[in-house]
Amino acid sequence: MSNIVEDIINAKKEKNAVILAHNYQIPAIQDLADFVGDSLALAVKATKVESDLIIFCGVDFMAESALILNPEKTIIHPNPKAKCPMAAMVDVEGLRMAKKKNPEATVVSYVNTTAEVKTETDICCTSANAVKVIKSIEEDTILFVPDSNLGLYAQRFLPDKKFIFWPGYCHVHQDISVAQIQDLKASYPIAEVLVHPECSPDVIDIADFVYSTEGMAKHCASSDSKEFIIGTEEGLVHRLKKENPDKTFYAISDAICPSMKKITLENTLDALRNLKPRIILPDEVIKKARAPLDKMVAIGRQD
Ligand code: SF4
Repeated sequence: MSNIVEDIINAKKEKNAVILAHNYQIPAIQDLADFVGDSLALAVKATKVESDLIIFCGVDFMAESALILNPEKTIIHPNPKAKCPMAAMVDVEGLRMAKKKNPEATVVSYVNTTAEVKTETDICCTSANAVKVIKSIEEDTILFVPDSNLGLYAQRFLPDKKFIFWPGYCHVHQDISVAQIQDLKASYPIAEVLVHPECSPDVIDIADFVYSTEGMAKHCASSDSKEFIIGTEEGLVHRLKKENPDKTFYAISDAICPSMKKITLENTLDALRNLKPRIILPDEVIKKARAPLDKMVAIGRQD
């Protein structure tokens, strides 16, 4: 074991901290985390951990959500530069204007949004429950922010709803191309193709299955297939290989989120030792942003 990993384990014990890590984190962070999951699993986990100190290895909005759901706990985000570019595509002023233009619409925000945007949101969702969340809404018109690809995917199952899409996207999933999937499929013809709903509609059209990262993990564990093409950020493949040592996984080349990779062993150790950078949000924001997150957590997963 390298010294830095040992130092992190010791500092974690000494501080009685819990490390939560997203599926897209570097393998070394995933390996020392207490829990690895997608944004919904992490949000739920954050409400259940007993420790008062959470080191959140993921991007900004995930650490903010952990604080909103646990305002009494200390949430440390090892690198404040680890920000999701898609979450930055919608700001609270822009959302207020869109609400004024569409007063009849129910605002559904992907959890990949800032805490401020959540204060203007009726209900949040993740890629693991977008269809289930929107199905639960009585109103006909949905203002869906910010991921237009996830919104378009949900719309396939909800033809009676009128969707208003925000022009946002995840650059990592948007860049996964039909040609990349077809090339991998030509090389590995018996592999099942799993893609994330943040992918573009033409990629979704040629996939065998569409899942959140947690849904992919469940599917790969239970499927009789031995080979899988994984259409999401490459970090998930580390977890899939660990959980399924008898199966083979093919990642999409260049499907790498630079923001997720900004969390390193070095800044995680610094965060543990110094208990900063700490996530701080105004009480009013925490209060208002909590309602749409609580509703999302209560609805649970669809995959
Ligand atoms: S993978 Fe996409 S949605 Fe996730 S943090 Fe990176 S840019 Fe944001």
